[in-house]
Amino acid sequence: MPMAIFPVDYEIAEDARFAKIVAKGQELARPELAHSVHAEVGGLNPDRPYWYRFIAGGERSNPGRARTLPHPDAMLDQVRFVACGCQNYEDGYYTAYRHIAAEELDFVWHYGDYIYEQRGRATILGSDGLPIPIVREHVGDEIYSLDDYRMRYAQYKLDADLQAAHAAHSWWVTWDDHETDNNWAADHDQDGTPPEIFDLRRQAAAQAYYEHMPLRRTAFPRGTATQIYRRANYGKLLDVHLLDTRQYRMDQPCGDGFKPLCPEAETPDRTIMGTAEEKWLLEGLSRSTAQWKLIANQVMIMPLDRRTSAGGEPAFNLDSWAGYPAARTRLLNHIGQHGIRNVVVTTGDEHQNYAGELSASDGPAVAVEFVSTSISSGGDGSDRRPGSDVILANNPHLKFINDQRGYVVCDVDQQRWRTDYKVLEHVRRRDAPVTIRQSLTVGAGEARLSSS
Ligand code: FE
Ligand code: CA
Repeated sequence: MPMAIFPVDYEIAEDARFAKIVAKGQELARPELAHSVHAEVGGLNPDRPYWYRFIAGGERSNPGRARTLPHPDAMLDQVRFVACGCQNYEDGYYTAYRHIAAEELDFVWHYGDYIYEQRGRATILGSDGLPIPIVREHVGDEIYSLDDYRMRYAQYKLDADLQAAHAAHSWWVTWDDHETDNNWAADHDQDGTPPEIFDLRRQAAAQAYYEHMPLRRTAFPRGTATQIYRRANYGKLLDVHLLDTRQYRMDQPCGDGFKPLCPEAETPDRTIMGTAEEKWLLEGLSRSTAQWKLIANQVMIMPLDRRTSAGGEPAFNLDSWAGYPAARTRLLNHIGQHGIRNVVVTTGDEHQNYAGELSASDGPAVAVEFVSTSISSGGDGSDRRPGSDVILANNPHLKFINDQRGYVVCDVDQQRWRTDYKVLEHVRRRDAPVTIRQSLTVGAGEARLSSS
């Protein structure tokens, strides 16, 4: 794009053919923001689809569709949404997004790893540990500068399947680590870079994320600071608490990795959200009057023993909430002590499907957690990784495990929450059909998973 300001017109219609246009406006696309625009449109009706398009320089964009939020007091019968994320471009095609585009949904929630920061690779290691060719290669080296991050988003966003999913649904997006750097934690990266220097990279990553994502101006970054955690209400049926477990967390304890907990992990001040966000979440859960409370979370809350063979000490993923056990105890004890019912957690990051129950200290389960796999990260996968039986046996709170790519569909009504784990046979070739691998249900008032 030439380094100049371009006016961008937009139109919003009640129908796909734009016969009845109900709103129009103009935004300025500025070079400082990679010529992105963030139009905020008021005066639309609640809980219905609208179609939008952009016009600039004599060109008209493809139309997109978005559904408005219901009125906050609406008595809804049903909410249906997808949780998805982790889309390493090199590992596979985005066929899952083509299927998501065809789903009937109120919204899509993306749990992060929208891009991956690594340099292009010619080969990766297959499940047998031997090299296999990459499906499609990242342009360039590992990304550091604002231009690098922009280029990476541009490459990902040229994918037509991803475009289709954006064009079909309203999205809530939150970030995880790879939008910036693997396993970052506030101003710490995994390489021990001085914080003030890593913050320059975070600033570039935050700006590019804002530019390329459907975010409101409230998420406009100030330096590294970006307001990602926020809430959405789907009438009286579902409150959504969208978390940010990267920006305010303490560094991973015990040197990070998959290993037994060391004393550093067990200190009572461990925090994965920081004081302000944690208070915001606990108060928000207490105040919520909706039937269901969704915690849209990035990394696994379940304390999962990761050992895949007999013997040894229990080992945990220290980048997940397992590295912040005091924070997990505060959250789950709060839910238990205040009798907050119908709390459901959805999670990403693992590149595997998991489902399990979450308990307060020495108590019964107070919530359930659905961990969604990846769109493409990890490649084809298989039904179960070796050692999955050991993981199931060592973790009685874990009810389901699967290692295929896909997404989860959550279908919520007053009586029950149903989660369908949708999986694809392969992602290293295009056009795999999607099937439901497992459906799990939670009845209102219960914090227990049942197969259905
Ligand atoms: Fe990921
Ligand atoms: Ca991640």
